[in-house]
Amino acid sequence: MSDPAPDLAAQARASQQRAALAAATYQALKQRRRLKSHRIITYRCPDRCLLLDVLNLPQGVVFHQPAYKLPPAVNAAASSTRGREKHTRDGDRRWQSWTYFAEDCTNVSTNCVHVHQVVLDKAEVKADLDAGHAEMVVDGAGERRPG
Ligand SMILES: [Zn+2]
Repeated sequence: MSDPAPDLAAQARASQQRAALAAATYQALKQRRRLKSHRIITYRCPDRCLLLDVLNLPQGVVFHQPAYKLPPAVNAAASSTRGREKHTRDGDRRWQSWTYFAEDCTNVSTNCVHVHQVVLDKAEVKADLDAGHAEMVVDGAGERRPG
């Protein structure tokens, strides 16, 4: 048996490289106004903020979550100092946008000014796609309905 640690590190690097590719591809499509031709479903809050954009690309299904800001109390309870340093623009509560391949996650924590930390399971996304929905509204209690 070989030591599994190097494999995990290699996997983490590969995952980061895929996420960078996903983010660059999303931005390029956005600039060329081509997102619509690859989008398979969108999740929004009841006030219409984008929570999660799902694209189907030749390389795989990509999830995109836009930047968001959390209220101070929610932010403090929901994140660690290290996470805030690493993933926010201000070191505190302005979280960066996040784009990655669906295969690299199990679920998605959705956030905007109105909806905080509502978890969408990949199985729920698949169920919504199977039901033929192109847009869903997610409220603060985590209830989903076709948009
Ligand atoms: Zn919102």
